[in-house]
Amino acid sequence: MHWKFSRRSIVLGAAASLAGCVTNPETGREQLILVDDGQLTQMALQSWGQLVSQTPVWHNPREQARLARIGGRIAVAANRQSLQWEYALFDRPDKNAFVLPGGKVGFYRGLMEICERDDHVACVLGHETAHVVGRHAAERYSREIARQGALQVAGAFTDSQIAMAALGLGSQVGLSLPFSREQEAEADRLGVNYMQAAGYDPREAVVFWRRMSQGGGGRGPEFLSTHPDPANRIEALRAYINARGWGPV
Ligand SMILES: [Zn+2]
Repeated sequence: MHWKFSRRSIVLGAAASLAGCVTNPETGREQLILVDDGQLTQMALQSWGQLVSQTPVWHNPREQARLARIGGRIAVAANRQSLQWEYALFDRPDKNAFVLPGGKVGFYRGLMEICERDDHVACVLGHETAHVVGRHAAERYSREIARQGALQVAGAFTDSQIAMAALGLGSQVGLSLPFSREQEAEADRLGVNYMQAAGYDPREAVVFWRRMSQGGGGRGPEFLSTHPDPANRIEALRAYINARGWGPV
């Protein structure tokens, strides 16, 4: 009986991995995942090394410490304190930030300059951390592989341009694979969960996104750009925060 059960489990497990559909335990959502986490992290580390060596760093010890301190609290709230988190402050006016699998966060000066409160930095880092927990890069990469066809899978794994694009670094290589609306909405919701758990004020997320949407021309490749109507996204987040009892906002 035990043997039969095990064998059946193995067969079922193999079928599931062939199909590539897994349920994310933290979101409850079923995802198409066709890439190994280790491979993706390896690609992310290579890209991160390139980025850090090629992008001017904003030498601001106070803001750097602020970023790491808030990031540490958010990582604990998300139960991802075991990742090798790194936070780079880049000297660019972009109101943007990004995260790579494995916990490498890029944060631009232009974004930090409009973060009046620590809650706003926590809002951004909560959102970015949620992309990691939600396995959004792996999902995006898997969708791209599926779109290109199974025959090209082997090639895709070694194509650094596609890898960069899948990691959300499309602007650097002239190729873009944005996160989907569903992923962004999920990151918004999980992000405020982490803010709240880490002791920040989730209502400030609404304040912050409103400011971002009114920034005029400040839409980066990641924030808001995948949403034709930022007002809808902010309204959805506002309703979520109120429904959780963290409002009124
Ligand atoms: Zn996002």
